Amino acid sequence: MNTDYEVLIVGGGPAGLAAGLYSARARRRTLLLERGIHGGQIATAGPVENYPGFPDGIEGPELAERMLQQAIKFGMEIEYAPVSGIKLEGGLKVLSTDYGEYPAPAVILAGGSDYIKLGVPGEAELTGKGVSYCATCDGAFFKDQEVAVVGGGNSALDEGLFLTKFVSRLTVIHRRDQLRAEKILQERAFAHPKVRFIWDTAAEEVLGRDQVTGLRLRNLKTGLRSDLPCQGLFVYIGHRPNTVYLKDLVELDEQGFIITDAVMGTGVAGLYAAGDIRHDSARQLATAAGDGVTAAIEAEHYLTELAARQGGLTPKALAPGR
Ligand code: NAP
Repeated sequence: MNTDYEVLIVGGGPAGLAAGLYSARARRRTLLLERGIHGGQIATAGPVENYPGFPDGIEGPELAERMLQQAIKFGMEIEYAPVSGIKLEGGLKVLSTDYGEYPAPAVILAGGSDYIKLGVPGEAELTGKGVSYCATCDGAFFKDQEVAVVGGGNSALDEGLFLTKFVSRLTVIHRRDQLRAEKILQERAFAHPKVRFIWDTAAEEVLGRDQVTGLRLRNLKTGLRSDLPCQGLFVYIGHRPNTVYLKDLVELDEQGFIITDAVMGTGVAGLYAAGDIRHDSARQLATAAGDGVTAAIEAEHYLTELAARQGGLTPKALAPGR
């Protein structure tokens, strides 16, 4: 067990990378643990147009790489390991991963959230055979094909508009007759010749044996069912955080998002949450980065106070019996 770190960060999306940058610049020994690809949702996003400072936009993966390199430049370390548990031991928070335990006095939870699945018949069986949750990863497989998107938020329209580069026609299926997505995306989608909308409708089943051949739809106002032929389905119906392992430690809302105070505190001293993982997050790249910065500043205050209280004890000395 490596007891050298002062700040551990769970999750390498914009919140975690911004936290890492600030903690490293505060000269705290900082380790970020990432379960997959650093960058979070922008790692698989297309052009990012709404992050301040990039008037012509920037590709999501490039921005993610720049954020990582900036944090590493100032001393942040990164390891690729999924965190599956956390416990309090003395003054330390101890994170468990498949590769061992990582203790530190301050931890910033920035694990983001995963795409929610529709949960209808055929979805799981046909994932990777026409059903996808990542337009950037899979869009090119659908060249000149008919593709459906389920959802009415920013993800559905952002990713749907990206898909229009490849597909012959894109059908957006939404359960209401009003979109949740920001207006500029709505304007682009409504104006796009390849995009059409089916309103007040739910996808009840994904059709096909070895490959998606269509969707069974139900109009939620009339109850009428119909089949939509298509070769691809992209699902964008929101996100759910990966916080099951935190439920006995911090307060979660009904959907599992972490309740924080205004400075990202979770109620456990030295434990912070930042970005999409927390309740009431605006779920924007810029706000996630801002959350990460706030959490890192608070962690720094906590470590400074702790050192003063403990007479300058090191993280190692905080661990009982170590
Ligand atoms: P979201 O904003 O929560 O929208 C989810 C959409 O899916 C809503 O339209 C919702 O319908 C619909 N939906 C939810 N459950 C459903 C179900 N069981 N069946 C069918 N439809 C269902 O999620 P998101 O679009 O993934 O965005 C998440 C966050 O990331 C948002 O805060 C968003 O602003 C942000 N984001 C921003 C950008 C950007 O700035 N360009 C890009 C992507 C994401 P209702 O409207 O009826 O609830």
